[in-house]
Amino acid sequence: MKILVTGGCGFIGSNFIRYIAAKYPTYKITNLDKLTYAGNLENLKDIAHLKNYNFIKGDICDENVVDKLAKVNDVVINFAAESHVDRSIKNSRDFLRTNVHGVDVILGAVRNNKIKRYIQISTDEVYGSILFGSAKEEDALKPNSPYAASKASADLLCRAYFKTFNLPVIITRSSNNFGPYQYPEKVIPLFITNLLENKKVPLYGDGLNERDWLFVLDNVRAIDLVLHKGKIGQIYNIGIGKEIANLKLTKILLDSLGKTKKMVKYVVDRLGHDRRYSIDNKKIVKLGWQPNYDFQTAISLTIRWYKENKSWWKKFKKS
Ligand code: NAD
Repeated sequence: MKILVTGGCGFIGSNFIRYIAAKYPTYKITNLDKLTYAGNLENLKDIAHLKNYNFIKGDICDENVVDKLAKVNDVVINFAAESHVDRSIKNSRDFLRTNVHGVDVILGAVRNNKIKRYIQISTDEVYGSILFGSAKEEDALKPNSPYAASKASADLLCRAYFKTFNLPVIITRSSNNFGPYQYPEKVIPLFITNLLENKKVPLYGDGLNERDWLFVLDNVRAIDLVLHKGKIGQIYNIGIGKEIANLKLTKILLDSLGKTKKMVKYVVDRLGHDRRYSIDNKKIVKLGWQPNYDFQTAISLTIRWYKENKSWWKKFKKS
């Protein structure tokens, strides 16, 4: 199989490429990435020498590049995105460009070539805040941040291309991921690295916002399953189904790093901050997926990785 991965130098994409390259040595993987602030060649330096891996610096909004690569690949998996909600609140322009226009460019290339499968990596944030119960794949999209609105727009475009042109599209919507190689602006690596530097951690509002935390390697295994067994035209939620309030998450991180609550600094809440995300995962479980990691084990592994890879994250914290 020849796989074009877009945005493979970011957090989830790099974990996915490393996993696929090891599991399927006969597959050819091409990684197209623009190398924004969030994309880092270092994330894949351990596999850069492999014969079945090839990196190309480029933009998913560039029709020529995307079309050329779609001609020589069987499958496209799109991780490329502007992914940080706080940045989208400050300025949404790049979010619409990459997350919506970029997806339209890829869909056009999928249509013009013989791509057998296009997987759009989406998010549970497209459902918006859910105070009770869990969102199912067919539920209405009610995004509340510019980031979530851009991802929801891409999901609707994918649906439209499936309905109009019978394009082989599948969407995955995972909950919040954490693990190695996550840029230290997102809450878990931000808090871990701040505590390792003996700096306070900024906790939004009352700290009672809830997220269903998913270890990145469990997400990667789910995407692998969807790649091989997912049904065209379908959407798959990927989550554990155990929501944790930010306050509890903070306590777990403080305890794990031997710090007290004195290290918490309450800050003004994020604008439009979604109170709770929760997704129904029955469909991906029915397809054959189960998480391998419980939260505490995955957090311990993640903390260890940030302790052992200070040179990776210190340079990002300076900028
Ligand atoms: P990330 O910000 O770590 O990485 C994004 C990658 O995309 C970077 O390598 C960046 O250089 C690249 N990129 C950005 N714009 C590009 C463009 N125009 N052309 C080519 N490459 C470009 O993101 P992530 O956390 O790894 O998320 C990957 C995907 O998963 C995103 O689509 C995101 O919406 C989705 N997602 C993330 C999470 C999470 O918790 N991180 C949860 C659910 C869904």
